[in-house]
Amino acid sequence: MADKENDKSKERKLTPPKLPKTNYQLWVILILTAVVLFVTFWKNTSGLIEVQKSGFESMVAGNDVKRVQLYKKDAVVQITLKSEALQNAKYKLALEKNGPLGISQSGPHYYFKIGSQEVFETQYAQLKTKYPNAPDLEYEEGGGVGELLNWGFLILLLVGFWMLMRRMTGGAGPGGQIFNIGKSKAALFDAENKVKITFEDVAGLEEAKEEVKEIVDFLKTPSKFTKLGGKIPKGALLVGPPGTGKTLLAKAVAGEAAVPFFSLSGSDFVEMFVGVGAARVRDLFKQAKEKAPCIVFIDEIDAIGRSRGRGQLPGANDERENTLNSLLVEMDGFATDSGVIILAATNRPDVLDSALLRPGRFDRQISIDKPDIAGREQIFKVHLKPIKLSKDVDIKKLAAQTPGFAGAEIANVCNEAALIAARRDKKEVEMNDFQDAIDRVIGGLEKKNKIISPEEKRIVAYHEAGHAVAGWFLEHADPLVKVSIVPRGVAALGYAQYLPKEQFLYQTEQLVDEMCMAFGGRAAEEIVFAKISTGALSDLERITKMAYSMVTVYGMNPAIGNISFYDSKQSEYSFNKPYSDATAEKIDQEAKKIIDMAFERTKKLLTEHREQLEIIAKELLEKEILFQSDLERLIGKRPFAHQTAYEKFTNGVAQEKKEATASGDNGQPKQEVVPE
Ligand code: ADP
Ligand code: ZN
Repeated sequence: MADKENDKSKERKLTPPKLPKTNYQLWVILILTAVVLFVTFWKNTSGLIEVQKSGFESMVAGNDVKRVQLYKKDAVVQITLKSEALQNAKYKLALEKNGPLGISQSGPHYYFKIGSQEVFETQYAQLKTKYPNAPDLEYEEGGGVGELLNWGFLILLLVGFWMLMRRMTGGAGPGGQIFNIGKSKAALFDAENKVKITFEDVAGLEEAKEEVKEIVDFLKTPSKFTKLGGKIPKGALLVGPPGTGKTLLAKAVAGEAAVPFFSLSGSDFVEMFVGVGAARVRDLFKQAKEKAPCIVFIDEIDAIGRSRGRGQLPGANDERENTLNSLLVEMDGFATDSGVIILAATNRPDVLDSALLRPGRFDRQISIDKPDIAGREQIFKVHLKPIKLSKDVDIKKLAAQTPGFAGAEIANVCNEAALIAARRDKKEVEMNDFQDAIDRVIGGLEKKNKIISPEEKRIVAYHEAGHAVAGWFLEHADPLVKVSIVPRGVAALGYAQYLPKEQFLYQTEQLVDEMCMAFGGRAAEEIVFAKISTGALSDLERITKMAYSMVTVYGMNPAIGNISFYDSKQSEYSFNKPYSDATAEKIDQEAKKIIDMAFERTKKLLTEHREQLEIIAKELLEKEILFQSDLERLIGKRPFAHQTAYEKFTNGVAQEKKEATASGDNGQPKQEVVPE
C-alpha cells in the first residue's frame, strides 16, 4: 500500500502546466451578485415597509392608494401609493429612510400580511363601499415578499454552486479548472516518467501473467501478429477482489512493453454535469491515440459499466449511460492495430453491461483471485526484499498466518513490521514484529474484510470437502474445477467451482444428483461436527428452488403428475396461484419429500466415504485450494467408466488452465458460495 502511495505521488497530471490565470469563478460570481442586487433594488421590493391594517385604512381614507395587489401564495398585500401622496411628508420620510436608493415612483411601497384571503376580500369590499375612490383589488400569482427570499436563495445557490465547482474540479486554488472539466483525469506515465514495474514485481498470478504476456508481445512487435491477419484483443478485463494486484499487473504490462501507461478510475468519469463523462472518455481516447502504442488502465470500471437500465428508475442514470455509450463507441472506433490496449479492473463482473463484454471490447477476462498459501509466500518474498530481516523470520509461517490476505495487505504487513521494529530501535526486523504487524492489519481488516477464525476455517473446509466428495461420487454431477477455502469478498468464506455441462435437457436423476451435491456441504457438517451452520444458505436456496421446479414446473413428480404451472406469458408480478389450496399443500409435501430424500442420500454417501472426506478436508486446511488433479491424486479417479466429451476435455487439454477456460463466456462456472 505504501508502494501505491509512492506511485501516486509520481504520477503527473495530464493537464498542461498551469499558467497564472485570472480567477474566473470569482469574477463570475461577483458580477452575478452585483446584477442580482441591482435588479433587487431597482425593483425596490426590498424597500417595502410593513403597515398595520389600520394604517392601510387611513391610507385608503386619505385617497393616497394607487394599487392594491394581493399575492395569494404568500398571503401578502402590497400597496402602491399615488405619486402625489409620495410627496406627503408622512410617507416620504419613512420611505426615504427605508430604501437606500431613494423612493421608487413605481412602487409598491407598503405591505401587510393577511390571514385568510376571503376575510380580506370582504373587509376590502366594505372599505370600498365606504371610500368609492379606492382602487380595485388586483390578484397576483407570484410571491410578494417571498420574492425577496427567492433572491437571497439564488445568491446562496450561486455561492454553493461556485464552491461545488471548486471542489469538483480539484479545488487546487484559483485557476481555470472549470474549463477543463471535460478533460480526462488520467494519470500518465510516459517517457520522462516511466513505469518501472515488471513481471518480477508481481508475485504469483502465473496464469494471469501468461495471458497478458501476449499483450506485451503485441505492443512490442505488432507486425508479428497483424501480418498473419490475427486480431489482438482491444481490451482485457481483470476480475478480482481489491488489493490483489490488478493495477500492479496492468502497470507491469506497460513496464515490460516500455509503453506509456494511462491510469484512471471509472469513477473519474462520473460527474454531476450532463455530458462531462462522455467528453472525458473522448478526450482520454484522443490522448491515448496520440501516445500509441500505449496502455489505458481503467480501475473500477463498474462505476460506469453497470448494465444499463437495471433496477433503477427510468432516466435516473442517463448520464452514466451516456458515458458508457461513448466508451463503447470509442472502443469500436479505433482499429485493432492502432496500438491502444485497454485493461480494466473490476470485482463485480456480474453487474457489467453485457455490451462491454462483447467481442472487440473486453472480450477477455482474466481472473485474479486472492492468493493461496503458496501465492502469499511469493508475495511476501517480493515485499521482504527491501527489508532487513533477522534470521528467525520464517516466510512459510508468515504465509500460513495470513489466510484471506490479498497482496495489498501483505505489502502492508511488511511495511508495518519494519515500522514497528524501527520504533523498538532494532537493527533487524524480527518475527515478533511481523506477528504484531499481522495482528494490527487484521484488526484494521476485520470490519471490512472478514478474517475467519481457525474454528470457522475448519467448518468451511469440511463443508467444501463435502461438496467435492459428494460430487466426486455422484454419477451425474458436474465435473469439479477447483475447491477453495480462501475467503472471497465479504460474503463468501469458500467455494467450489464446477464446469457445467453444455446441456439443455436434464433427466430426473441428474437433477437429484445435483441436489445431493449441493447438500454435500451441510451433510458433511452434520456428520463431522454433529452440528450444522448457517453456511449452507445458498445451497439450501438452490435445492429448494430445484425441488419446487421439479414438482411445479417440469412435471417430474408422480403425485402431482405431468403438470406444469409455469406460465411463460405471465408477468413477474402475479399474485394468484393457478392451483387450489389442496394442490398447494400437496406440492409442499412432495417438494419436502424430494429434499429429505436427497439429504438422506447425501448423508449416506458421505458416511460411506468418510475417509475421503477427511483426506480432502485436511488437505484443504493446509493448501486452501485444490484442483481436480489434486483430488485425483488424493482419492483416485472418479469411479465412472464413461466420460462425457466435456469431462474428457477438462481432464485432457486444460488441466492447469481450467480456471481461465471456466471463466470464459459460454461456460460460466457455477459458484457455490458460503455466506457468513
Ligand atoms: P488492485 O488494483 O487489485 O486493487 P493493486 O494492484 O493496487 O490492487 O495492489 C496494491 C498493492 O498490493 C500493490 O501496489 C502491491 O504492493 C501489492 N500487491 C498486490 N498483489 C501483489 C502481487 N501479486 N505481488 C506483489 N505485490 C502485490
Ligand atoms: Zn455449500
